[in-house]
Amino acid sequence: MTVALHGMGVSRGIAIGPVHIVERDRIDIPEYYIKDGQVEAESQRLNEAVTQAKQQLRAIREHIPATISSDIAAFIDTHLLMLEDSALTHEPLRLIQAARHNAEWALKLQRDALVSVFEEMDDAYLRTRKDDVDHVVNRIHRILLKQKPLRHEEPDSRLSGYIVIADDLAPADTVLMQHHGIVAFATEYGGPTSHTAILARSLAIPAIISLHEARRFLRQDDLVIIDGNTGVILVDPDKLSLRYYRQQQEEDKKYYSSLVQLKGAPAKTLDGVLIELQANIELPQDFEIVRQVGASGVGLYRTEFLYMNRESPPGEDEHYETYLAVLEKMQGLPLTIRTLDLGADKQVDGGRQTGPVQSNPALGLRAVRLCLKEPALFRPQLRAILRASAHGDVRLMIPMLSNIQETRQVLEIIEEIKEELTKQQVKFDENIPVGAMVEVPAAAICADIFAAQLDFLSIGTNDLIQYTVAIDRVNDEVNYLYDPLHPAVLRLIQTTLAAGIRAKIPVAMCGEMAGDNKHTKLLLGLGLREFSVHPAYLLEVKKTIIESDLARLVPIAEAALQAKSGAEVEELLAQSL
Ligand code: PEP
Ligand code: MG
Repeated sequence: MTVALHGMGVSRGIAIGPVHIVERDRIDIPEYYIKDGQVEAESQRLNEAVTQAKQQLRAIREHIPATISSDIAAFIDTHLLMLEDSALTHEPLRLIQAARHNAEWALKLQRDALVSVFEEMDDAYLRTRKDDVDHVVNRIHRILLKQKPLRHEEPDSRLSGYIVIADDLAPADTVLMQHHGIVAFATEYGGPTSHTAILARSLAIPAIISLHEARRFLRQDDLVIIDGNTGVILVDPDKLSLRYYRQQQEEDKKYYSSLVQLKGAPAKTLDGVLIELQANIELPQDFEIVRQVGASGVGLYRTEFLYMNRESPPGEDEHYETYLAVLEKMQGLPLTIRTLDLGADKQVDGGRQTGPVQSNPALGLRAVRLCLKEPALFRPQLRAILRASAHGDVRLMIPMLSNIQETRQVLEIIEEIKEELTKQQVKFDENIPVGAMVEVPAAAICADIFAAQLDFLSIGTNDLIQYTVAIDRVNDEVNYLYDPLHPAVLRLIQTTLAAGIRAKIPVAMCGEMAGDNKHTKLLLGLGLREFSVHPAYLLEVKKTIIESDLARLVPIAEAALQAKSGAEVEELLAQSL
């Protein structure tokens, strides 16, 4: 009998194949006390395991095929850096020495401590980084306990054609699995912004997360169909389902190969309106893919990566050098640098800040609020962005603004820095555009007030939706309420776009909603003319733009604004498009 399991699709596409169950979480960690005379040997045992873990990761990194996006290597580098980081390894050594814990237990205690720090963080991306700590510690534990490598780590191709089902997967696992020909995967945990999800999209393999208790319902070698578009797995599918999904796969294949031809085509609608189509990036290496898909610039460069895996924040010169390297790759295309978006309590890296843990961190001291409170964190980045503006088309973007006083404060600091640089005879672009992300309902409702002070706005739907419908964007249990089509969200988007038109400033959208081509026509109808999207989705969005007739879309968008629910909007779009 065919059984359907439901999770969240995070990487599109369909795969059909037998299941390989990965049992990663079944490690029983022994707890015992060592004798005084064993401290040195136990410390050495831990050090050797860490060294071996590094060797394993380096070997995996070396085997990444050149054809695979460079952000995957960067993810593995993140794990290597963790192994170098004293926060992970020194404390267990101290625990062996001071409390006579065995190496496995000392490491487990430190893992628990780090994970709880990450769990308190309000930033979706950083919160999922607790998974990285888990993955790295898991690797060391397996070595300490002399467990056999996971089957997908063995250098063979027995897994070719399999669909992996796991509790969770590390970036290194994902890379190796793809190398061994795995065609899709599903995990029981993880959020849509976890590394696993990001990697799946970069590797272009179908993936589902939050498939709770999947391993209870699936057995090794069960035949399944995995649909990354809808988040559904069909176990033991009947002939009819198999025929339907095979046909779907064929159609997908034709569709994606046709997309590549659009790389050089202008993103112009049927009625001749040129739409700006830019890319979102996080790492300097991501620029390769920006070029591969022919983006017209970068509409969102998230700079949080610069602050990760280090004891202290990067200095002005480090920021500057990084931005210069990025600008060189842009070859004259615009680069929108977003200033730091960290929260107050996610203090395990270079954005460290002390203070009490907040009970509602998403509503707390994050992003520009933190930057205004900590000028030592903010000013070096602003100076570096301004200095970099002398070398290319740089735009400066502030996240999470919620009132005009904050906006004025930021603009004043920028003016002060400009004066400072002029006195110091340091070059910068006097007219550097300064804009803000509209991520808080207050900013969307009062977009006209912000538009009067700024050169551009960019709608960050990931946060805007979270705050509008009051759901934590990384919370599994309320994910179902995360609805981009909620009429409240659409009305806030429309208000922001209208404010931009009145103030004659551009309004872009850089949240995930902009990269989902299901929403492209609606957004065009609402008046959006600038999209900034994950590079993997850029060509799909371009295709939809090219097939759109704006005159026809405006009344549909107007009707959507009058709908009573997201479901009603969905129905309206299905009937009219
Ligand atoms: C957003 O909130 O939509 C956004 C693009 O910012 P981030 O996802 O980095 O919070
Ligand atoms: Mg945001």
